[in-house]
Amino acid sequence: MSHSSTLFAEASTIIPGGVNSPVRACASVHCEPLFIAKGQGAYVTCADGNTYIDYVQSWGPMILGHAHPKVSAALHHAVDNGTSFGAPCEAEVTLAKAVLAAMPGMDMVRMVNSGTEATMSALRLARGVTKRNKFVKFEGCYHGHADSFLAAAGSGVATLSIPGTPGVPDNVVADTLLAPYNDLEAVKALFAAHGKDIAAVFVEPAAANMGLVLPLPGFLEGLRALCDTHGSLLVFDEVITGFRAALGGAQQRFGITPDLTTMGKIIGGGLPVGAYAGKRQYMSHIAPSGGVYQAGTLSGNPLAMAAGIATLQELNKADYTALEHKVEGLCQELENIFASKNMPVTITRLASMFTIFFGQGPIHNFGDAKKCSTERYARFFKHMRAQGIYLAPSAFETAMVSFVHSDDDFKKTLVAAASFTE
Ligand SMILES: *Cc1c(COP(=O)(O)O)cnc(C)c1O
Repeated sequence: MSHSSTLFAEASTIIPGGVNSPVRACASVHCEPLFIAKGQGAYVTCADGNTYIDYVQSWGPMILGHAHPKVSAALHHAVDNGTSFGAPCEAEVTLAKAVLAAMPGMDMVRMVNSGTEATMSALRLARGVTKRNKFVKFEGCYHGHADSFLAAAGSGVATLSIPGTPGVPDNVVADTLLAPYNDLEAVKALFAAHGKDIAAVFVEPAAANMGLVLPLPGFLEGLRALCDTHGSLLVFDEVITGFRAALGGAQQRFGITPDLTTMGKIIGGGLPVGAYAGKRQYMSHIAPSGGVYQAGTLSGNPLAMAAGIATLQELNKADYTALEHKVEGLCQELENIFASKNMPVTITRLASMFTIFFGQGPIHNFGDAKKCSTERYARFFKHMRAQGIYLAPSAFETAMVSFVHSDDDFKKTLVAAASFTE
């Protein structure tokens, strides 16, 4: 038995499902997880000593690669000076300035400890500011695991929300209005029916939690206009796309300024950080300057801030365009490989993110994504992992490429893909 297997068996008796976050269990690709012992640059090494080219990147944060020397040095320095005070520290101001410089549409930012906290707090703020309760979210978009966001759609355009998980009361998601991604008409219908009750529209400006699904031209613009017309707040959940779609996130890339932005993943450089940001007129409603309560014992702690600051400093010097060209090249080669096998695939791509959907495109929403073969993805996942390529263990995830993936890494990835037959 491999060491990973032994650890997983032991973990399964004392941690629910053996994991501290569900997708890691690898259930949907029908295998056991690898326990990771070490990460360095573009690679992770498992508990059995095998090394893999990593396209998960901790689900996004590690855009500079694992154990980046500048980030590690910043952490070493910070850790010796104490890890949390529950009092303000200079690093919070430094990171806030770096975030606001990257995203010029935002005036103020509040640090929290995860993406979940960021979206949950942004929703409370939007409701507090507008004094309305309902909000719109899109099927297949993930905004963390706060109760209000865990609603699944019924069939078609559901205005009646049902909880997506036991433990969430019906009344908690009763104010969650659902629409298919990229379906502006559906959102218009929701506004026509509930306009004066809608506090906010939450959207991943490029959806990366149903596989990568790009916004159609006019979709985000349409949401912006609807929110303006109805006095609702447009919230971009940039937990994945922030500092990845571009340094200034999807909002910079697509040229649309939301009212509030949520961040996570990259902003913490591999430590637990989230943030929500927005225009002063809204952010000033947050306690203690306003009445909307939100707090955190470890929020803004110097260790997390140090990793975030070092990461953003490096990203300010990084060549996003060059990385995007490399990923474009990789995706084109992958398309060629699958075409030569007569295997229908649709590869979606944005900046350093891509998804291989095993099915005919185009993929515009969760319904389209679900039509693709998750079983073939599972076989592909296992095939690639056996050859040292570590992909996300679910068909509905996005492959992440870092600034330190090399041409040689891409070559090895392509060689591995070329021998996939099933
Ligand atoms: C990961 C993610 C979240 C949740 O962040 P956590 O840090 O896992 O709580 C929220 N929104 C989006 C778009 C995400 O990808």
